[in-house]
Amino acid sequence: MPRYEYRCRSCGTTFELNRPMAESSAPASCPEGHDDTVKLLSAVAVGGSVSAPSPAPGGGGGGCCGGGCCS
Ligand SMILES: [Zn+2]
Repeated sequence: MPRYEYRCRSCGTTFELNRPMAESSAPASCPEGHDDTVKLLSAVAVGGSVSAPSPAPGGGGGGCCGGGCCS
Protein backbone atom coordinates (compact mmCIF):
# COMPACT_ATOMS: atom_id res chain seq x y z
CA MET A 1 0.00 0.00 0.00
CA PRO A 2 1.45 3.35 -0.96
CA ARG A 3 2.57 5.71 1.70
CA TYR A 4 1.70 9.35 1.53
CA GLU A 5 3.18 12.23 3.40
CA TYR A 6 1.09 15.06 4.71
CA ARG A 7 1.84 18.27 6.44
CA CYS A 8 -0.37 20.00 8.91
CA ARG A 9 -0.74 23.69 8.30
CA SER A 10 -2.00 24.25 11.80
CA CYS A 11 0.93 22.92 13.76
CA GLY A 12 3.41 22.33 10.96
CA THR A 13 4.02 18.70 11.70
CA THR A 14 4.50 16.20 8.95
CA PHE A 15 3.16 12.74 9.11
CA GLU A 16 2.78 9.74 6.90
CA LEU A 17 -0.18 7.60 6.18
CA ASN A 18 -0.51 4.29 4.48
CA ARG A 19 -3.69 4.38 2.52
CA PRO A 20 -5.03 3.14 -0.74
CA MET A 21 -4.28 5.20 -3.77
CA ALA A 22 -7.99 5.90 -4.14
CA GLU A 23 -7.90 7.72 -0.83
CA SER A 24 -4.66 9.58 -1.42
CA SER A 25 -6.48 12.88 -1.71
CA ALA A 26 -8.96 12.21 1.03
CA PRO A 27 -8.74 14.54 4.01
CA ALA A 28 -6.19 13.47 6.56
CA SER A 29 -6.04 14.61 10.12
CA CYS A 30 -2.68 15.24 11.68
CA PRO A 31 -1.66 13.36 14.83
CA GLU A 32 -2.66 16.43 16.79
CA GLY A 33 -6.15 16.29 15.40
CA HIS A 34 -6.00 19.20 12.99
CA ASP A 35 -7.83 18.91 9.72
CA ASP A 36 -5.95 21.59 7.82
CA THR A 37 -3.46 19.32 6.13
CA VAL A 38 -1.92 19.16 2.72
CA LYS A 39 -0.52 16.20 0.89
CA LEU A 40 3.15 16.42 0.07
CA LEU A 41 4.68 15.15 -3.08
CA SER A 42 6.97 12.57 -1.64
CA ALA A 43 8.69 9.75 -3.37
CA VAL A 44 6.28 6.90 -3.16
CA ALA A 45 8.01 3.58 -3.17
CA VAL A 46 5.57 0.95 -4.26
CA GLY A 47 7.65 -2.13 -4.65
CA GLY A 48 8.63 -2.81 -8.21
CA SER A 49 12.11 -2.79 -9.53
CA VAL A 50 13.92 -0.39 -11.72
CA SER A 51 14.51 -2.05 -15.03
CA ALA A 52 18.13 -2.13 -15.93
CA PRO A 53 18.98 0.14 -18.80
CA SER A 54 19.70 -1.69 -22.01
CA PRO A 55 23.35 -1.61 -22.93
CA ALA A 56 24.15 1.12 -25.35
CA PRO A 57 25.08 -0.13 -28.77
CA GLY A 58 28.76 0.00 -29.29
CA GLY A 59 29.99 2.75 -31.57
CA GLY A 60 30.97 0.79 -34.60
CA GLY A 61 32.38 -1.97 -32.52
CA GLY A 62 33.21 -5.21 -34.18
CA GLY A 63 34.67 -3.70 -37.35
CA CYS A 64 38.31 -3.27 -37.98
CA CYS A 65 37.86 0.50 -37.65
CA GLY A 66 37.74 0.05 -33.95
CA GLY A 67 41.35 -0.91 -33.98
CA GLY A 68 42.47 2.02 -36.04
CA CYS A 69 43.54 -0.14 -38.95
CA CYS A 70 41.32 1.67 -41.44
CA SER A 71 43.36 4.77 -41.97
ZN1 LIG B 1 -1.67 19.62 13.36
